[in-house]
Amino acid sequence: MKKFCVSLFDFFLPRFCAACKLKLGPSESVVCMNCFSEIKLAEPERLREEYARKFQQRKIITDFISLFVFEKEKALQHIIHSLKYENRFNIGLFLGSELGKNFHDLFTGWQIDLIIPVPLHRLKKAERGFNQATYIAKGLSRELKIKYSSQVIKRNRYTESQTTLDMHEREMNMSGAFSLKSTSMIKNKSILLIDDVITTGATITECGKVLIESGAKKVYAASVAIADQI
Ligand SMILES: [Zn+2]
Repeated sequence: MKKFCVSLFDFFLPRFCAACKLKLGPSESVVCMNCFSEIKLAEPERLREEYARKFQQRKIITDFISLFVFEKEKALQHIIHSLKYENRFNIGLFLGSELGKNFHDLFTGWQIDLIIPVPLHRLKKAERGFNQATYIAKGLSRELKIKYSSQVIKRNRYTESQTTLDMHEREMNMSGAFSLKSTSMIKNKSILLIDDVITTGATITECGKVLIESGAKKVYAASVAIADQI
């Protein structure tokens, strides 16, 4: 019956793949099976290397996980582009849910109390309409049955594109970029920070620093994808 309803719905109001823009089949949601199978998974070894390179030294992020590897001009770039610029927030929910399904046991082991999306500056949010990381956090929150809040961290500064800066310069650039709106929700809690793509890790580390300084017990990080540093 459900399948029949989806088919009927698709006939009148077809749904399209967020990557290739072709019509989705009745059993597919958000991304077609073909595109989804082409996205490169982040291998455990790669994740260990990335953790060592991005987070180990600063001792703020206890552990981190990413589902995919971001590749230019490939399916995932198109999917994240649709999420950000075509206001397709259901893509965020879908990606968050995939993250939760794939790493359910790991997240359970981390004993997360609260999920927090990395905030956008209000100007950027106004320009785009919404923060894509919030929808990823929401999808993950539904899957794991752990609450999320986008009301804890505030972004103070509109940081310019960081692509021309090296690692140290990015850290300097991010310093003071975030502050807390509320500390009661994070005191002695284990927090999971969520972003769409992690590149250098400077943004997420800075968010984590603010949380730790205000009394969070542990800060973990997860993203849909990791990207090579440019
Ligand atoms: Zn597709």
